[in-house]
Amino acid sequence: MRVVIKGAGVAGLTVALELARHGIEVHVVECAGAVATGASGLAGGMLAPWCERESADEMVLTLGRTAADWWEEALPGHVIRHGTLVVASGRDTGELTRFAGRTSGYDWLDGTGIEALEPSLAGRFRKALFFRDEAHLDPRRALAGLQRVLLDRGVPFHFGCAAEDMAGSFDTIIDCTGAAAIGQTADLRGVRGEMLFLETSEIALSRPVRLLHPRIPLYVAPRGDDRFMVGATTIESDDAGPISARSLMELLNAAYALHPAFGEARVAELGVGVRPAYPDNLPRVTVDGNVISVNGFYRHGFLLAPAMAGQVAAILTDSIPNYERHCA
Ligand SMILES: Cc1cc2nc3c(=O)[nH]c(=O)nc-3n(C[C@H](O)[C@H](O)[C@H](O)COP(=O)(O)OP(=O)(O)OC[C@H]3O[C@@H](n4cnc5c(N)ncnc54)[C@H](O)[C@@H]3O)c2cc1C
Repeated sequence: MRVVIKGAGVAGLTVALELARHGIEVHVVECAGAVATGASGLAGGMLAPWCERESADEMVLTLGRTAADWWEEALPGHVIRHGTLVVASGRDTGELTRFAGRTSGYDWLDGTGIEALEPSLAGRFRKALFFRDEAHLDPRRALAGLQRVLLDRGVPFHFGCAAEDMAGSFDTIIDCTGAAAIGQTADLRGVRGEMLFLETSEIALSRPVRLLHPRIPLYVAPRGDDRFMVGATTIESDDAGPISARSLMELLNAAYALHPAFGEARVAELGVGVRPAYPDNLPRVTVDGNVISVNGFYRHGFLLAPAMAGQVAAILTDSIPNYERHCA
């Protein structure tokens, strides 16, 4: 069987690796000139199923709790297992109680505990939740790493939209085109996520920190080299245009509330990604003839792509026997 995967975001590359591991001949076709140019390159890289359960279905925790193991096995050394710290400023501590009531897998910390984990935050917050089993990675490094692993396994990459014409010469097409499928795939919508990178040597963080707020929840994910990803808005829109002044002000204000030293940081990059999402905000693998679509990762591309990639491999290796019937 010869398989072509359209799209070299996190969905496409995780599927490619799972199929290559099963000995299936696979090619990757990507419209852009490199991997990770879509939403995947703008992600926070948090593997945080316990925190996400605050607003997500139980399925996100069920499928996502093994994601860090998958990434560690695929890319040794890329996954940082330092947990997630969730804080709230004095007047918003009720938000922490609310968050705790909707999640599990945390410990309550006092100021001393917070300082022990993140010395830069000493004296800034009285209470926090610590989700010790969570992890994070750098999405761009991870996807560049997956590309190297795939190239080493002999998987060819074809860049540029002209390469799309090749798709017809394959037995099976796996559509991992993310937000580009909005309007062509029933029920798929876009959820705009705005983010920025700040650079400062005044603060050191070892793990993603979420700052709860009734209107503007924010997270800061450390990337190393004094670089911090600050994210992210969640706006019901598939507009991928530049970040709005309001979102920029709100993200910067929230970062400043987390630590005033972010006020002196340099804004190194602004970004906007469109998260593809189905009405239940859960990803789907759908089969239509010889086309398998893997889409709808919403806020959970890095968290849930390994599980969905496993489902695609199971379909193609007949562990899910109905595939032949779907492929009329
Ligand atoms: C700001 C932000 C923060 C996020 N943070 C996290 C996080 O911390 N953890 C997490 O798990 N998830 C996070 N997400 C969600 C995650 O980024 C997405 O769910 C995920 O990237 C979707 O991946 P994808 O591969 O489906 O789409 P994409 O990454 O958009 O990839 C689709 C690819 O298909 C290509 N393409 C389009 N059309 C064609 C075509 N016809 N032929 C060939 N190629 C084509 C595009 O160029 C693109 O490269 C975040 C998202 C955003 C926007």
